[in-house]
Amino acid sequence: MVIGIIGGGASGMAAALAAAEHPMAQVVLLERQARVGRKLSATGNGRCNLTNLHAMEGGYHGGDPSFVAYALKKFDVEETLRWFARLGLVTTAEPSGRVYPYSDQANSVVDVLRFALDRESIRSELGFEVQKVRKDLQGFLVEGTGGQLRCDALIVACGGLAGTKLGGTMSGYQILRALGHRVTRLRPALVQLKCGWSGVSALKGVRCNCHAAVLRDGALFRQSQGELQFTQYGLSGPVIFEVSRDVCFGKGDWKCRLDFLPQMSREELYAELVRRRSGGRGVEDLLVGILHNRLGRVLTKEAGLGQDLPVSALSDRQLHSIVQAVKGLDVALTEPMGMDCAQVTAGGVLTDDFDPRTMESRLVPGLYACGEVLDIDGDCGGYNLQWAWSSGRLAGSSAGKGRT
Ligand SMILES: Cc1cc2nc3c(=O)[nH]c(=O)nc-3n(C[C@H](O)[C@H](O)[C@H](O)COP(=O)(O)OP(=O)(O)OC[C@H]3O[C@@H](n4cnc5c(N)ncnc54)[C@H](O)[C@@H]3O)c2cc1C
Repeated sequence: MVIGIIGGGASGMAAALAAAEHPMAQVVLLERQARVGRKLSATGNGRCNLTNLHAMEGGYHGGDPSFVAYALKKFDVEETLRWFARLGLVTTAEPSGRVYPYSDQANSVVDVLRFALDRESIRSELGFEVQKVRKDLQGFLVEGTGGQLRCDALIVACGGLAGTKLGGTMSGYQILRALGHRVTRLRPALVQLKCGWSGVSALKGVRCNCHAAVLRDGALFRQSQGELQFTQYGLSGPVIFEVSRDVCFGKGDWKCRLDFLPQMSREELYAELVRRRSGGRGVEDLLVGILHNRLGRVLTKEAGLGQDLPVSALSDRQLHSIVQAVKGLDVALTEPMGMDCAQVTAGGVLTDDFDPRTMESRLVPGLYACGEVLDIDGDCGGYNLQWAWSSGRLAGSSAGKGRT
């Protein structure tokens, strides 16, 4: 039995290895890029956050987030870590639950998968971009830049549109749509947000811990706490990725309220500023030792204070304005950055038309899909790769078993 897999990314490689566990399966992995796992090697800032000890159903989004439940239970985090250990990968978990290769190199993850693919029952065809798929009575005819392939079962593991420079493409959606599947609107998720605050450019590159609350027309839309990074255009970093899904989609006044000192109350900060007022510093140094120096200066300016004032001249009202800038800075959000900057695609191929227990299409027998091409996206912190491993292995093992 020949099983064709389109896409040699995270879910495609997992599917290939699971399918090849079945003695009758001959697997052909078709990858349009010159090597497998190109995006994978850039994940987690080159470290690859391959899963999260807390990854569970609640961390996923899409038209029907419960679609992930069976795959995540069958190939859960523990099983995933055992599987990687069998492949030779030593991993380490951070207190947050994020799991990384012990080597701290994403390439280690790609390498152990690549080595495992090197077996007789798996043929990898690199530089093979699938352009067309036809279903007939004998199975599937797959055509592309590398020629033709006939297969009995076909797994579409083309990933999503996010991270276009690393291989994100519309291809999987187009292939599945041509076979009768429906695709939702696609949006960038886990993405930087552009903002209309003039202070941002002076803070480019600054990282800090904060609580970020996205407000739509004044009402809380989403919130999180963690690391923020300022970019030339706006806000980035894990805390922003976590709140970015669907921000600025739909009308409304979108704002991000930033608390740069979530561990300290307004009263405590005010008391500390009163204490500092008796010192001999200038306003520009008022927040030294509390916040990143550049951030401190920008926030005191934001509070409307001249930088050359001595702190001793500050009124109680002025101290309250600084507390407000530090603990409740409202930044207008304009739009998310594009798909090229996003880590994951929100939206995708409707999961209603797939069986969550096998990942097989309900419309085309023998056709399977896994990973990001489906209308599933996970939270920041290893959830998306866990979905790729779980759904890929489920699709591969179901296809390997053949139709029952
Ligand atoms: C910069 C960045 C950092 C990220 N960091 C993390 C992280 O640390 N942790 C985490 O959990 N998630 C992370 N993600 C998300 C995660 O990488 C993806 O969700 C995951 O790789 C999806 O797996 P996939 O197999 O569905 O798709 P991919 O890994 O994208 O693989 C799809 C493959 O299919 C190939 N392909 C597409 N069309 C065709 C075609 N027509 N013919 C042949 N081949 C084709 C592509 O070239 C690609 O190799 C990150 C994403 C980005 C962009």
